Amino acid sequence: MIPHSRPTLGEDEIKAVSEVIRSGMLAQGEEVSAFEEKMCQFIGTTYAAATCNGSAALFLLLKALNIGPGDEVALPAYVCTAPLNCIYQIGAKPLVVDIEIASFNISVQDLLKKLTKKTKAIIIPHMFGQSAELEPILNIGLPVIEDCAMSLGAIYKGKMTGSFGIASIFSFYATKVITTGEGGMVLSNSADIISKIKDLRSYDERNEYTLRFNCKMSDLQAAIGQIQLTRLPQFIARRQEIAAIYNRKFSSLKIKLPHEFPNRKSIFYRYVVLCNNGVDELIKTLGQNGIIARRPIFKPLNLYLKLSGFSQTDKAYREALSLPLYPSLNKKEIATIINGVKDAIT
Ligand SMILES: *Cc1c(COP(=O)(O)O)cnc(C)c1O
Repeated sequence: MIPHSRPTLGEDEIKAVSEVIRSGMLAQGEEVSAFEEKMCQFIGTTYAAATCNGSAALFLLLKALNIGPGDEVALPAYVCTAPLNCIYQIGAKPLVVDIEIASFNISVQDLLKKLTKKTKAIIIPHMFGQSAELEPILNIGLPVIEDCAMSLGAIYKGKMTGSFGIASIFSFYATKVITTGEGGMVLSNSADIISKIKDLRSYDERNEYTLRFNCKMSDLQAAIGQIQLTRLPQFIARRQEIAAIYNRKFSSLKIKLPHEFPNRKSIFYRYVVLCNNGVDELIKTLGQNGIIARRPIFKPLNLYLKLSGFSQTDKAYREALSLPLYPSLNKKEIATIINGVKDAIT
């Protein structure tokens, strides 16, 4: 079976992690600081705080922004439940917004319509590796949190996603763009936000008791992350190369291929197509041909929360199919995927 996703790891990662083990210093230390610094250099921000995962990064960021009970945080419906969990954990309320199906990103029109006086921040996940239309969202003037869990290295108007908002969060889960097994980070140009997060992520040796939680990354993880980051440009190039092959091979099929906007450069974290008839059936047929395809979002938030008026999200849920695309796919696997998709769809 060709998995839907698979990390790219090698001897360099094994060597880096072995050196940390030999050093005897495994917890948050120099490797974490070095990884934070390298992420800042890559994205083009000044400060960073590593965390145990992307959810913790977003939770601590909301806390550092003083968001809590009585506040509303906007987010799109077509995203995994992680950002929703963070909003509820902090005691705030979600303001759920429909999407623009061409990019699977938040609909600016629906966002503007729904904003209220209570809205204190907007979470913008750049879906499947392609930036949202950030400019009109930034112009609203509310704090914009870029969720770059799927978009590390994606470009918007010539600059890295993650460098536009008040802060951005990243995930290094096993199947994300780069991995540390589990891991996350907050990036920002605000020294104040990052120092608050660095203070909040650990609990030991405090004179006064305040409620905290351990959200640290280990040096073992940060050592792997630094190697992964050096390989990221090749990862992205390979993702874009495979996407171009799929685009060419699938051009005559009766499916809608990923749409690329002129001012955004996708890293193709996912290759998502729209099919008119029966995603479940297609997933089954592809599975019988050794290919694991998936709904790119297991279930949209409007369905979990039983909200209506999400026509574009509903359409994405009905029609979107994610095909395997990642740097470690070999030529034979790519050919199997192409032939399998052609068989299943025509
Ligand atoms: C994966 C993901 C997260 C959460 O990251 P974890 O490291 O799994 O906690 C948040 N937002 C988006 C858009 C994601 O894809």
